[in-house]
Amino acid sequence: MKMSPQDKKLDHMLRSSTLVAGGFMGRDRRSVREIIEADAAALAACGLNAAMVARRMRELTDIGRRGLGTWVDADGERLQVMSEDYKGMLVCPWGHAGHYHKRSTVVKAGADERMLTWSDLNIHLIEAHGFFEGRGSAFRIEPAQAAEILFGKTTP
Ligand SMILES: [Zn+2]
Repeated sequence: MKMSPQDKKLDHMLRSSTLVAGGFMGRDRRSVREIIEADAAALAACGLNAAMVARRMRELTDIGRRGLGTWVDADGERLQVMSEDYKGMLVCPWGHAGHYHKRSTVVKAGADERMLTWSDLNIHLIEAHGFFEGRGSAFRIEPAQAAEILFGKTTP
């Protein structure tokens, strides 16, 4: 896929590790747009979109924050969520104004305790950019996993 100069600049930014350790792309060789499109398609297959996932993540983050670092039940007792604050801020690689807390939220589901972890920046990246990060990046969120854990949906 041919990339515009802006896309190239963004791609370079996302692959560099100056914003977060390891960058946002992990070992993913696809372009940002290819990643975004593939993830949108994976979500659509589960009847979801990025906005719905981001909204759910924000709700769960808010519930988790009430536990002040301990597990809190959510969605009846289907989920448990824990949110922890770390010192420091993250910025959006697209150059949006504003900083995102280095808060880390973990959700676990089911008897086998499948887990999903995200930062506040993940929520913004998904909501504003449909970006779940590249495969192998520390905070990559697999759309199919998000569908299953956050919404109890299994991939058709
Ligand atoms: Zn942004």
